Amino acid sequence: MSLKKVAIVGAGVTGLTTAILLRLSGYDVHIFASKYPVIDHSNPFFASAFPAASIVPHSVTSPISKKLFLSSAMFYEQLYELNFSGIYRQIHYEVFSEPSKSKPAYLQWLPGYTEIPINGNSFIPHIPHYPLSRAWKFPMFFVDWPVYWKALLKIFTTLEIPFTHEIIDFSRIDSRFSVENYSLVVLASGSGLEKMHNKPLSLLKGHLLDIDDAPKLHDPDGHVFSYNYPPPLKVYSTRNGKPQDIYSYPRSGTMILGGSRIAGKLIGEKWKGDELLLNYKKTESNLEWPYSAIFELNKILIENSTNYKIHYTQIKSKVHGYRYLGPNSSLCFEIDPSKKVPHIHAYGLGGAGVTLSWGLAKEITSKANELLQSPNDKNTYKTSSSIQAKNISRLLANLYIG
Ligand SMILES: Cc1cc2nc3c(=O)[nH]c(=O)nc-3n(C[C@H](O)[C@H](O)[C@H](O)COP(=O)(O)OP(=O)(O)OC[C@H]3O[C@@H](n4cnc5c(N)ncnc54)[C@H](O)[C@@H]3O)c2cc1C
Repeated sequence: MSLKKVAIVGAGVTGLTTAILLRLSGYDVHIFASKYPVIDHSNPFFASAFPAASIVPHSVTSPISKKLFLSSAMFYEQLYELNFSGIYRQIHYEVFSEPSKSKPAYLQWLPGYTEIPINGNSFIPHIPHYPLSRAWKFPMFFVDWPVYWKALLKIFTTLEIPFTHEIIDFSRIDSRFSVENYSLVVLASGSGLEKMHNKPLSLLKGHLLDIDDAPKLHDPDGHVFSYNYPPPLKVYSTRNGKPQDIYSYPRSGTMILGGSRIAGKLIGEKWKGDELLLNYKKTESNLEWPYSAIFELNKILIENSTNYKIHYTQIKSKVHGYRYLGPNSSLCFEIDPSKKVPHIHAYGLGGAGVTLSWGLAKEITSKANELLQSPNDKNTYKTSSSIQAKNISRLLANLYIG
């Protein structure tokens, strides 16, 4: 019996993860993408070249975020248990200088989340002399992105999933490739899907620095930590008064310093939206704005919290990329019934595409099972819940060659 064929458009973290899970579930999968997915920073629209990458649903909204997050978290947990070198778990601090109105919903989904009293003696990474309004901490996973991406690509090639280099014109998708050859099309082409909508997608521009030869940061109890910290608005914010958080996440041998989340849209080549305010004027590093602020604010925070001094000569790269959101600024996961064969849309993952990737791939696989399987198929295809996070994690961990 020939297997049911699924076409996936897009080879970012969403497309690759979905292709792997569908393949392991028994489908004949084929990926189409405008570029072979190597990590370089030449295209700021290929979001999967940029994640920092924390496993927490920052900068995305969806009614199914919790479900996707918990399902993905199980996978990362397994990978960590298997001592995969591309994942860390550490204490993460979220610290605020301006009064915050509400707490993000995801805090309740994180075991070990603790509110920290700001007037006590507890350790809170921050910049001295700026006010502190609130802080909390929780244990969290971080993915060492270059290592993880290499392993993901390795599974993809080991499973011999065919890849075709092709730019799909979404206004003519039915004729562009022979849709009738497939039972299902999954559209995971990120910002490429903008052309299917009459208005541009919402973007969150992000800036990152990669710091070479960087140690892990330790709190006074000796635990490795990371942080997100928006300094006061008058120091680092946007024209529309949005606080901008600086952050530090670990990698093997290097450290990622962020960041920015500037909301806007691109109309043609032109940026329409918010802008960072040039409030922070110290420029010891000779970097251009906003990298100078990102570097110096993080440097002061790290020095104040750990005594470790970063020097600007350690800057290995500085990059900017776009996190994009679907219509109504949220994640889009839906089935388009208007096509000859069903199309599943899966895009607009904002700042959480890595975080939610396995959860989303599982949902897509469940939908594929629902849409495509007849009772006679039950021995041919595995259900997404029978594909255990443990088995996939083992595959990923085993395939990684350092
Ligand atoms: C600065 C920054 C920091 C981030 N930090 C984090 C983090 O800490 N944690 C986290 O979870 N996430 C983070 N993210 C978000 C994460 O990177 C994205 O959500 C994720 O990479 C989106 O992946 P994707 O596969 O959906 O889209 P993409 O990676 O954009 O992939 C789209 C794919 O579609 C293809 N394509 C597009 N148009 C066409 C077309 N017309 N025809 C054929 N192929 C096409 C492209 O070639 C590409 O293969 C960050 C992002 C940025 C920019």
